[in-house]
Amino acid sequence: MAVELREVKTDRHPEDELLREDRIPHIWCPGCGIGVAVMAHIEALKLSEVPLEKQVIVSGIGCTGRTASYVQIDSYHTTHGRAIPFATGLKAANPQLEITVFSGDGDLFAIGGNHFIHAARRNVDINIICCNNFNYGMTGGQVGPTTPEYAITTTSPYGNMEDGFNLPYLAAASGAVFVARWTALHFRKLRDAISRTFEKRGLTFIEVVSPCPTSFGRPNELGQGLDEMEWYRESSVIDHDADLKAIGLSMKKDSKLVVGNFVDIERPTFMDRYQHIIERAQAKGKKPEPEQAQVKEQAQAQGGSA
Ligand code: SF4
Repeated sequence: MAVELREVKTDRHPEDELLREDRIPHIWCPGCGIGVAVMAHIEALKLSEVPLEKQVIVSGIGCTGRTASYVQIDSYHTTHGRAIPFATGLKAANPQLEITVFSGDGDLFAIGGNHFIHAARRNVDINIICCNNFNYGMTGGQVGPTTPEYAITTTSPYGNMEDGFNLPYLAAASGAVFVARWTALHFRKLRDAISRTFEKRGLTFIEVVSPCPTSFGRPNELGQGLDEMEWYRESSVIDHDADLKAIGLSMKKDSKLVVGNFVDIERPTFMDRYQHIIERAQAKGKKPEPEQAQVKEQAQAQGGSA
């Protein structure tokens, strides 16, 4: 009996419908973790009840900043460090949008650092995903705001003398309503955390610890991207109730990489408060009803006050 073979299109990627094919091949190096985070985001988009036409992605500059160019939804590739204010403006103009800022540690926490803390303080209703690869990968591997102490980079050839930011602690202290850290190895946990951010109102933050074998792994002798993944597998500990003060990342080989969904709270968003202020202003500026005005006039004529 003749068997009818099903045509298999081997030239297509399973997520092609949400990738801009005309932009592929992408620029990311073999073993880079950014693509894993992007795929987790794409899977979360597909699972979400939010229609794709309401989903928006905003990126800044750097390797991770290229994400906006590759995902097939409304997307904006903004200037260095300015993805968060751009996203804030979008949300204020159209509160129906589900906006995700997808960028790197240098973009979001150096030049964009002030934007991050103030957006979290205001609880702007946006999601922020940060691929943290501990350096400025695109420009040659310079020291950045999350580079751990003692790490070797092109601008710290004898080891970084500064502490890197502990991003979940910073996000929680600044007011984010959902805070998580996963690595590029924890694909399903990351996808589920991103799905959760689509349901939350307010500023959410996910740090994705991500291999950069080209610019960070090589000088620090961490091997290839898969070796960094192996390091994550050996050192990561899931602890949703971790003390955030104590989960800063370190280059020490025996140090633990604590991951989890650490914060999930509710508080009024920036737009909630904005609406409340509008209502207060309208109530204060309201003209008195005719009857009230008459009483007031009579009281004033009698030299009193109503
Ligand atoms: Fe990824 Fe690093 Fe290459 Fe940039 S330089 S694409 S972060 S591996």
